Amino acid sequence: MIIFGTSSKTVQLAMLNLLCAFCGNPSAHALRKRITRFSLFFVPLFPVMPAKHHLQCTFCGAQSDVSKEDAQQLLAQGAGPGQQPGPVAQGQPQPPAGGNPYAAQPQQGGPYGQGQHPYQ
Ligand SMILES: [Zn+2]
Repeated sequence: MIIFGTSSKTVQLAMLNLLCAFCGNPSAHALRKRITRFSLFFVPLFPVMPAKHHLQCTFCGAQSDVSKEDAQQLLAQGAGPGQQPGPVAQGQPQPPAGGNPYAAQPQQGGPYGQGQHPYQ
């Protein structure tokens, strides 16, 4: 007995700030592609159809299909100057290396000012 079928998985390519065509809000959109592969005995072997790209608005959740060319254009725009190239560009500042985001804060400029002790 041969067990075969298709398996699909969705890969997130980028987060892009776009104006939503559905709700009209400028919000982050997840650009994802869905790969459908032929599988034999539950082992995915090869793609059976071209990857389908779509955008999902994180504000209203609406999804829209985009062509592969449009997806590549969006990716090229998202990886432009001022943004970190990478699979997930959140557009948020990354905490400094080391894990503790407060470790790198300089010990000055606090509520008591710089070098002035309130009890002296
Ligand atoms: Zn929306």
